[in-house]
Amino acid sequence: MDKINVTRSSMPSYEEYIEKIKPLWDTRWLTNCGSLHNELEKELEEYLGVNNVILCNNGHMSLYNAIKSLNLTGEVITTPFTFVSTTNAIVQNGLTPVFCDINPVDYTIDVDKIEILITDKTSAIVGVHVYGNVCDVEKIQEIADKHNLKVIYDGAHAFGVKYKGIPIGNFGDVTMMSFHATKVFHTIEGGAVLTNDASLRQVLEYLRNFGLVGTDECDYVGMNTKMNEFQAAMGLCNLKYIDGEIEKRKNIVMRYQNNLSNLPGIECWKAQPDVEANYIYFPILIDEKYGVDRNQIIDALQKNNIFARKYFFPITSEFNCYKDYSGTTPIALMISKKVLTLPLYADLTFDEVDKICNIIKKRVKTND
Ligand SMILES: *Cc1c(COP(=O)(O)O)cnc(C)c1O
Repeated sequence: MDKINVTRSSMPSYEEYIEKIKPLWDTRWLTNCGSLHNELEKELEEYLGVNNVILCNNGHMSLYNAIKSLNLTGEVITTPFTFVSTTNAIVQNGLTPVFCDINPVDYTIDVDKIEILITDKTSAIVGVHVYGNVCDVEKIQEIADKHNLKVIYDGAHAFGVKYKGIPIGNFGDVTMMSFHATKVFHTIEGGAVLTNDASLRQVLEYLRNFGLVGTDECDYVGMNTKMNEFQAAMGLCNLKYIDGEIEKRKNIVMRYQNNLSNLPGIECWKAQPDVEANYIYFPILIDEKYGVDRNQIIDALQKNNIFARKYFFPITSEFNCYKDYSGTTPIALMISKKVLTLPLYADLTFDEVDKICNIIKKRVKTND
């Protein structure tokens, strides 16, 4: 049987992609805001319902630039239940991450635990829309306004997500998205900053190109984070099919939920109320009650060439490079020890889903 990984990249047809990149052999304009790049920015502004989309070479550098554009200092309140990129982008900007716990319902930042962490050094809140689950954006904005803080969202998982009908990029000062090959929408490697603040757009355009503000001037200490034309071409091709891909993902998630939701000891991911989800991941929590633990399930699946992943374990505050930073986050720690993210991609078949679920239901113990 073919290997089933936790994610698999969507691809347009070979012919379609080749057609898209063909003009590059005439123009020889391969990067630096080429025409495909600019076309993709426009299409994404439309699709994502936000005034400004600033493309970058990947999600991480988009987040790095997003944080940099806000001129922050001191401490930033964030969560450790995420991919390490979130914490790295904060620290790479010379800021100190202060770890806030997550709530046990949707695993986003626990808004009741933010204010106690605010000091006179706090300059921002970095929330993560983890698994495409939307942070409590209303409460976060209320806290930020009260304490004069900026709000940044790591929306790497939240492509196309809407809250109360409002596209996700409209919340906070800036939102980052990742267009990595394994995400719902991809440009091979890629990412973007989303903002409704037109003045930030200009800064972000400078930051992605070394901080140059013209041919003879440099105002910012910028990096090189430009998206090239081959990446933009992949994005333009993929964007045409995105609604269908998300619909397929939704049906697969429902199949998983029907299979697994009545098992005592297993808790399945559920869409939040008021949220139009994108079905990027299907995490489950495995409790001791279930009788076999997470590693035994991983082993049983692996014997069948199926590769589930512990997203997110360990939490970023447990990594060697972050052990000295403050924060006690018992809920994040507990969830990270129980979570298992099952394979999910648009072309996963119902038969494959059933097979995965049957292996989980057999409760095979590794040492039996
Ligand atoms: C994928 C991801 C990133 C990084 O995006 P890249 O495009 O891989 O650089 C950041 N944060 C989270 C939560 C992610 O899942």
